[in-house]
Amino acid sequence: DLKTPTNQDLITYRKEHLGKSLSLQYKVPIKMVRGAGQYLADQFGKKYLDTVNNVAHVGHEHPKVVKAGQEQMALINTNSRYLHENINALAKELLETLPPELSVLHFVNSGSEANELAIRMVKANTGEKDIIASEVGYHGNANMCIDISSYKFDGKGGSGALEHTQIFPLPDAFRGKYRGNQTGEKYAAEVQQCIDTIHNKKRGVGALIIEPIISCGGQIELPEGFLAKSYEYVRKAGGLCISDEVQTGCGRMGKTFWGFQLHNVIPDIVTIGKPLGNGHPIAAVACTQEVAEKFANGMEYFNTFGGNPVSCAIGAEVLKTVKRENLQQNALEVGEYLKSELKELTKTFPIIGDVRGQGLFLGIELVDEELNPLAEQTDYLANRMKDHGILMSTDGPDHNVLKIKPPIVFTKENAKELIHYLKKIFAEDFMQI
Ligand code: PMP
Repeated sequence: DLKTPTNQDLITYRKEHLGKSLSLQYKVPIKMVRGAGQYLADQFGKKYLDTVNNVAHVGHEHPKVVKAGQEQMALINTNSRYLHENINALAKELLETLPPELSVLHFVNSGSEANELAIRMVKANTGEKDIIASEVGYHGNANMCIDISSYKFDGKGGSGALEHTQIFPLPDAFRGKYRGNQTGEKYAAEVQQCIDTIHNKKRGVGALIIEPIISCGGQIELPEGFLAKSYEYVRKAGGLCISDEVQTGCGRMGKTFWGFQLHNVIPDIVTIGKPLGNGHPIAAVACTQEVAEKFANGMEYFNTFGGNPVSCAIGAEVLKTVKRENLQQNALEVGEYLKSELKELTKTFPIIGDVRGQGLFLGIELVDEELNPLAEQTDYLANRMKDHGILMSTDGPDHNVLKIKPPIVFTKENAKELIHYLKKIFAEDFMQI
């Protein structure tokens, strides 16, 4: 049968033969067939502005990144037990962006693998199993990652935290346990409570893992002073500090290249994923010399695909492109413009309770007068924006946060278009849906 399958054919086949817990985006699913920059096109030639894809970091199908991969693919691809300059070149590009304390890299293939390796490093370094993580945090799909991801084990199908996982409340200054300014100390005291719990059980602290902006939690910016204080407490207890930069890294924050740099801390381990390959599966773990030395305890860490010449050619070109095209600066300028325009919208549309985030990593939280979450209205907005050719995603524990995390080539014109349609849809009568 040479006929192109219809979307319904694709859906029917997926339902029967692909993972049953795999969901589809949108009420009427889309088949995308092309990408370019901040745009995607479906099979009918309809063009969409993409405000969702933080993987296509320097733009969908960036010609230089595509070419780097194609050229290396035609020459040789092997595992990293052979010498190759590409792995060194990517290491150099990455290390240039990191503080000198973080000077050793392990290359892997996904954010989950990066966090899985980070936790192994913690165990090898400290001899401890207890990990402290945020409520509604998400760190990946592997077993150890799921065990520290409250987003999963506290959600549908989950069965709560395991003995060695200590969860502190989502440090959300808008609707969380402590609200308003100066909540950093209060939330850090919750991290100290997790440490006390571990000590009361006569065990020691392995690590704290957290994103600099908690993405699945609904783009939660960490309150001022929270991270520095938490690092201090964890280190005093002998634990390590991991910054999960799978979503926030590689220039998206605008002001800084990495999210942890917004908080004036230096982690012991940084995990890097999504944007590094611009869609190609490559990820990395950066750590200190000390952490790397203690991890090399005799058991080899080998990863068949991690650090192969094709992936490294792609990763190095992504980082070069961020630098060459000044994309961190673009994330800062366009992000700040967009955030201020979104804040303007709150004056006309009171259901926008909060606008937050950094650079091109923003969130809009929809609530009623009593701050109750408006999940259905948020879903309505994302679906109506799609009708107008703009892709947006929703997240947060109450599904009431519209997320904006486009390829960082997103322009001021794109931001204006986004605001134009948001104004139009927010003005629709959708409170009673
Ligand atoms: N950490 C964070 C913060 C993530 O958002 C994700 C993926 N959404 C992961 C880790 C896991 O990455 P991957 O899906 O590439 O395994």
